[in-house]
Amino acid sequence: MFIKNRSESEELRVLKALNPRMDLAEKEKQYYLNLKKGFEGEVMFDGYLKRIVIQSFILNDLLFEQNHSHFQIDSLMISQSLTYLFEVKNFEGEYYFDGDTFRKINGTEVKNPLLQLERNVSLLRQFFNSIGFKIPIEPYLVFVNPDFTLYQAPLNRRIILPTNLNRFIHHINNQKSNLNYQHSRLSDTLLSSHLTKSPFSKIPPYEYAQLRKGVFCHSCGAVMEEYSGRELICKSCSVKENTKSALLRSAKEFNILNPKDKLSTNIIYEWCGGVFPKKTIRKVMKENYTISGYGQWSYFE
Ligand SMILES: [Zn+2]
Repeated sequence: MFIKNRSESEELRVLKALNPRMDLAEKEKQYYLNLKKGFEGEVMFDGYLKRIVIQSFILNDLLFEQNHSHFQIDSLMISQSLTYLFEVKNFEGEYYFDGDTFRKINGTEVKNPLLQLERNVSLLRQFFNSIGFKIPIEPYLVFVNPDFTLYQAPLNRRIILPTNLNRFIHHINNQKSNLNYQHSRLSDTLLSSHLTKSPFSKIPPYEYAQLRKGVFCHSCGAVMEEYSGRELICKSCSVKENTKSALLRSAKEFNILNPKDKLSTNIIYEWCGGVFPKKTIRKVMKENYTISGYGQWSYFE
């Protein structure tokens, strides 16, 4: 049973909205793409977790602080006698372990995910001790992408490869598990200790004035300038989006990037690069937001 669902982090949402509207530095762009890919991998793994039928509490995407160290958990599953800790990686391509180092097939060193897992287990164990729970932790490093290949895999039963995933879920489903109030108490304590503000955030500074205005294609990121009155068409990838969806999506992006500013018809008109008539903006916004204030000072919330 999913107790805490996964959603895009604040950081990912901001970077996603920012990406087409300003020129991110190469490093920032790479960071954003990794974040996005990581999230997609976690969502893929959730698809497998949904097939777990034994009694369990699944908590996704947790952030804790223990001994002044922050640690993030992709998925945690509480069963009768174990807590499963899953570190999910959406790596693609060919990799190998070279002793304690983890490398791409071309030799490039990548941060060793097993070490990251070890660190998380150690911090989680200390955290469990600090709140008075003794339940054992079973950690797994899950490679979720079907296009991932691992050569010279260490004989480590903590590593789950894409081809093992189905068997692994089947294996969990064969365990006996009856949860009681102690498990609920653990789950509640974890939820209430979860931090919502990440200290890792790497959002570059930006100002409204410097951001590109327009509606940007959700598929390829190009600006959508062809408006038929009913829909917008992306010239670069031919994706079509109806007025309401494109307008509400842009308004949402405005809120994500300018959380302190109020949404008015004029602001949305400018934010969307003048592509929609103000009359259309007012109509769509009225149907989906509440109007506050009067006349030229009215805004949507
Ligand atoms: Zn496009």
